Amino acid sequence: MPKPIPEPVAVLTGAGVSAESGVPTFRGENGLWRSFRPEQLATPEAFRRDPALVWEWYGWRRGLIGACAPNAAHKTLAEMEATLPDFTLITQNVDGLHQAAGSRNVLELHGNIWRMRCTRCERTSEDHRVPLPKIPPRCSQCGALLRPDVVWFGESLPSQVLDAAWTAATRCRLMLVVGTSALVQPAASLPLVALQNGARLVEVNPAETPLSPHTHEILRGPAAKVLPEWWEIRQSG
Ligand code: NAD
Ligand code: ZN
Repeated sequence: MPKPIPEPVAVLTGAGVSAESGVPTFRGENGLWRSFRPEQLATPEAFRRDPALVWEWYGWRRGLIGACAPNAAHKTLAEMEATLPDFTLITQNVDGLHQAAGSRNVLELHGNIWRMRCTRCERTSEDHRVPLPKIPPRCSQCGALLRPDVVWFGESLPSQVLDAAWTAATRCRLMLVVGTSALVQPAASLPLVALQNGARLVEVNPAETPLSPHTHEILRGPAAKVLPEWWEIRQSG
């Protein structure tokens, strides 16, 4: 008999949870655009130097993501939220696929690729159009350049979201770490915070990560396969 799920539950997801939906991970072979690495484009400096180039890259990524649908792992996490009274989903992804699968409260540490923010008046707006009619897009209120409302390399994370994620990591008794290489800070610290506070750690990843030696349980396989199986067993148990 599998053990019942100890609550509160927190889940941290990364690019791997969307891999089977067809969204390339940054470190995977399809992560490159032209010959640029994401670290060269997802920065404030790159945007200052060449906003159109950065927006072309985002246009390409929005096109890729817009053609993708949530997979069984996203759906399982939405079901967990609907079933478990004390559940927090934290994601590093910007693709919006958790919400598309039905997750309601998602702590998006790195923002969302479907949201834009004005570089002058800070107004944010959602825009799902692919392709965008004009690149780079401009603010309808003040005419300044819009930027993707995502966190770029070298920028700090939205503090309210990070605080809420930190609290969830501190409180939880079980943390699932799904499809993240556990390399990008500060997100990579969240499982360690959970661990230090006595939580059980479960890693869901087909590959070994720096976190693997610290986990209590490892589901080695693609998230869309192993996560629904894990949840199913606990539901029927
Ligand atoms: P990463 O690219 O560094 O690592 C992806 C991890 O997923 C790896 O450990 C890999 O082994 C694992 N993985 C691959 N296929 C998987 C599968 N089918 N099931 C489960 N795991 C699988 O991703 P990261 O740790 O999220 O960090 C990269 C950064 O890039 C994040 O900040 C994120 O915001 C951003 N990013 C986001 C998206 C997205 O929104 N979908 C895509 C690429 C990058
Ligand atoms: Zn504006």
